[in-house]
Amino acid sequence: MQVQSQIKQSKRPFLIAGPCSAESPEQLLLLANQLKQRNVSILRAGIWKPRTRPGSFEGLGEVALPWLMEASEESGLPVAIEVANADHVEKALKAGVDVLWIGARSTVNPFTVQEIADSLRGVRIPVMVKNPVNPDLNLWIGAFERLENAGINDLVAVHRGFSVYAHPKYRNVPSWEIPLALREKLPELPMLCDPSHIGGKRNLLLEIAQKGMDLNMDGLMVEVHPTPDFALSDAEQQITPDDFSLLISKLVLRSSNVSLSALAQLEQFRDKTSEMDDTIFDILKKRMQVSNELGRFKKENAITVFQQERWIKIISERMGKAADYDLSPIFVRQIMDAIHQESIRHQTRVMNDLLSNDPSID
Ligand code: PEP
Ligand code: MN
Repeated sequence: MQVQSQIKQSKRPFLIAGPCSAESPEQLLLLANQLKQRNVSILRAGIWKPRTRPGSFEGLGEVALPWLMEASEESGLPVAIEVANADHVEKALKAGVDVLWIGARSTVNPFTVQEIADSLRGVRIPVMVKNPVNPDLNLWIGAFERLENAGINDLVAVHRGFSVYAHPKYRNVPSWEIPLALREKLPELPMLCDPSHIGGKRNLLLEIAQKGMDLNMDGLMVEVHPTPDFALSDAEQQITPDDFSLLISKLVLRSSNVSLSALAQLEQFRDKTSEMDDTIFDILKKRMQVSNELGRFKKENAITVFQQERWIKIISERMGKAADYDLSPIFVRQIMDAIHQESIRHQTRVMNDLLSNDPSID
């Protein structure tokens, strides 16, 4: 099959769903039939599971391959599995698996990606590449380059979030700017969002999937299990086929193609925001002119640029007003820090008679 063109032709969101791990022939057949009726285009299932620590369920291995192929034949759904080395690739190709994906723990390792790419030389098969576990855009891009150099060009990106230590909300933080940066570099590459591994919990799936859609991603890869609570891996994030249908039905799909009348109104809003941004920068310019005067004054009176108590007072007063401004405290803090740093740069320049306007001098 050709996945890139299918994604481009199909209505958004293009759907891939299935269990975290293949567990039995019955599980796969039941899911394949049910998901086929729910507009899913590809059944996913892990056979070899890259678990972070040994002792957790590491997948059933190649015994599950024929079960998956049977479920595929009976339902008519193409199937995708994760491969992490040349041996997996060989076994998957021999069994007739339709689509392969490279997991986050493999994308992170150029040796592994190169091994997989080399084992695919001369083969025509779609390959999906999950983002690396760490937020390194170049590793992700590098994986696509290695596959392309091996002649694999039916490629798809899957955004599954990035590892951090003990995050209060996400299993893997989304850092949406990274998939967006990938889209900027490789605009033709289809991009799917995997809300299951980002959220790690069922109740976060809708919020994350909606955000993925709002950022114009092409589709979703979701973990679905007949009895999620009893799943052998990733139980907390898997949902039943019915809940999957509910999730998809709740998504609000907005288009990036704007009608002419909507475009006219959109332009008005854009003009308004640009005008306001102009005002903000004019005020910042004036603010820094005062910083320059302040620098001159401090110089004449031999006062240090930075006064700790005053800064603490200013910042706490401003943060206390965040709710009044209807701005998040983090945003208020970032703005204050940015203004403060720029002001110190201006004052330091004046105090040291630096005439250069080089912004790198701080
Ligand atoms: C998975 O899809 O089940 C999986 C192991 O994903 P990731 O590589 O994103 O952790
Ligand atoms: Mn999983």
